[in-house]
This record gives sequence, structure tokens and C-alpha cells, in this order.
Amino acid sequence: MTSRLLPLCLFLCSSAAAQTVAAASSDIVVSARARAIHDSAIVVDTHADTTQRFLDENFDLGSTDPNDAGHVSLDKARRGNLGAEFFSIWVDPTTHKGHYAAYTLDLIDSVYEQASRHPDRMMMAFSVADVERAHREHKLAALMGIEGGHSIENDIRLLRDFYRLGVRYMTLTWSNTNEWADSSGDVDDATVEHHNGLTDFGKQVVLEMNRIGMIVDISHVSDKTFWDAIATTKAPVIASHSSARALVNAPRNMTDDMLRAVAKNGGVVDVNFFSGFDDENYRQAEAAQAKDLAAAIKQYDDQMKAEGKSATAADRDRIEREYLAKLPRPPFSVLIDQIDHIAKVAGVDHVGLGSDFDGVSGQTPTGMDSAADLPKITQGLLDRGYSASDIHKILGGNVLRVLGEVERVSREMQEGGK
Ligand SMILES: [Zn+2]
Repeated sequence: MTSRLLPLCLFLCSSAAAQTVAAASSDIVVSARARAIHDSAIVVDTHADTTQRFLDENFDLGSTDPNDAGHVSLDKARRGNLGAEFFSIWVDPTTHKGHYAAYTLDLIDSVYEQASRHPDRMMMAFSVADVERAHREHKLAALMGIEGGHSIENDIRLLRDFYRLGVRYMTLTWSNTNEWADSSGDVDDATVEHHNGLTDFGKQVVLEMNRIGMIVDISHVSDKTFWDAIATTKAPVIASHSSARALVNAPRNMTDDMLRAVAKNGGVVDVNFFSGFDDENYRQAEAAQAKDLAAAIKQYDDQMKAEGKSATAADRDRIEREYLAKLPRPPFSVLIDQIDHIAKVAGVDHVGLGSDFDGVSGQTPTGMDSAADLPKITQGLLDRGYSASDIHKILGGNVLRVLGEVERVSREMQEGGK
């Protein structure tokens, strides 16, 4: 909201909207100390959906367009000292039905194409050593994670091929249950065939991921799938973009028992920046509006069908943004509350950042508008008494530890011929 509208708003706006204005005007100022701590870290974000934009909008990461509302660009990454980004390889299970693997390959290609366009500021990365080299060379390390096990089309060979192409984690499910793992997104839908967690093949997938060195990602899965994966895996896992359910009652978020189980496993839970996972009031407001939003999207889909055109994810996202923009944004502090809660329950070695940038229709807490705002997290943690070394762990050290462990377990399993 522009300041010009503020006096009018004081009279006319609802109290909720007025609170948002207040939160916006008391924006976090990053101190020189926080900036120095932040800039000396290797900052790793484990989930951004910017990849969709490469294909859907022909978006270039080198863009400096001031009107671009996107969360991630090379410029924004540099301003926020983002050192490594896991670009999400997400295949819409409805739109791409029948050719999941082919679209997975298209998305992988789009990340490589960005890296080859910007060799001076970006490089593909596949290991801890690569991320460290990118950091030394002041380049953004581009890693890839598949979001949704349906991408492998029930074929363990495709899983290995995706690893060979550089994919370093796979979320066992997206919001859809696939043929070997249940998702939190539809676990209550009786029309979907469920498996009570992971099937035997699902367990084989987890073990093969351990063997080849791909991180098992348990974001999005149902609670039973989570526990099956934890019982099966021989390496630490991550939740690449999940928050805490004790604070916000979303089925996608992790219970305190799950947080403790991830700690015991040596893994990391990377906090999602989506307001609907970080603020209970926002989640409830969003739920109250969900029916109207679904109707608006259906109307759009029907209209496209009638006109003989195909519906696009970009158009659907535009409609979603229009609706969600009506809800007041929560304050920045809810994001720090999430990190703090996970650090207290699981331990400071088991929390990280999984923004979900460019995948949440712009709905992040006030003050978190792009990767350029990442230093505010360091300020928020300093304000709550976190030490510089703990902040470095949260910003990326913990995730790099997991990636290193996954590499080690893979070597051991391969040497042992298992
Ligand atoms: Zn997701």
C-alpha cells in the first residue's frame, strides 16, 4: 500500500488491514552486525518454484525488471547473499498426465539453460564441494530437487537417470498420492486409492535414493508415509519446505513428534515461508475463502475449454494471487517464530530455510518479498539471542551437513555392494 492512501485507510480500513499497514511500516532494519554475519554464511534455500517460470513465462534469472513480482533472480539472490538454490522440478500431475518423465526432463533442461546463459554469476552444483566452490567464486549454486515421486513413473531406472542428470533430492509425493506413497494433500479423499503410507516399492525407492546419493524429502507426504520413510531410510532426510504444526494446524506441517524424529535421524526441517503455513489466522482466512477461489479457477478452466484453449498454470496463479491478495499479510515475526520453534523442539542443528519462493502466489509474511530480504532472517534470529555460529547453521550449514552425510552413506552402500 502506498503512503498516499494511509490517511484514508486509518478511517476506512478494517482493523486487520490496519494492522498489516502497521507491520509494514515497522519493517525490519538489518544492522551492520547482522549484515556481516549474514554475508559470511553460505546461505542455502532448499525450495524455489522459479523453475516453472523458466518454461511458462520464458523468465530469465538475469532479469532486473523492477516491476517483476518474482521472488528469485540473480540480482535478488546477490542482494540477499543467497549462495545455493534448490530449483524445484515440479510436474503438475493433472496437466501433464501421461508424460511426467518428459516434463521432468524439460524442467531439468530449463535450469541448465539458465546456468549456461549466466556462467559468470551462476553454476550447476551437485555436491557440497560444488556449493563451496560456487561460494568462493561468488556464483549462485543451482541444485535441483524433484517435487513429487510421480515423476519417476514407477520406474527405479528413471530415478537413477534423474540422479545422473543432477537431481539431488526427491519429495516422495507432492499434494497427490502416487502409486507407492500417500500424500497429506489427499489422504482424506476417499475417491483416491491409498496405501497406508509407503508400499514395498516405495520403500525400495527410499533405499535406492540412499544408495545413489539422493536426499529423501518428506515434505508433502502423509503422516504415515513420513513414519515409514523414517523407519526405512539409512541416511538423514530433509523436509525441503515445511513448517511446524504446533504453531499452524496445516496437515502439510510437521508435528513436534516428527520434528524430534527428524532430529534423531540427523535430518533438517526447512521452514516454508508461505503465510498459510506460518500463521494460523492467515490459514483460517484462506480456508474460509477456498471455496470461492476454487469456483473462480473452475470458471476459468471451463471458459478455456469452451474456447478450445488449454488452461495455463500462469493464469491459474494469477487468479490465486487476486484472491489471496485480499487477505492481510502476517507480520515477519511469524517466520522467525517457526524457525525458533523447530530449533527449540528439534535442536538448532535440525532447522533450515525452504522458502517455497515463487510457489506461494506471493503470499509471504510482511517484509519477505524476495531473496533480497533473506538478511532480515539473520536480524530476526540475532534479536532472539541466536549466536553467529547457530545462525550460520540455520542459514545453510545444516543442509550442507545433510547433503554431505547423504554422499557418505551412498559411498558406503556402493562400496559394500548393497
Ligand atoms: Zn510444495
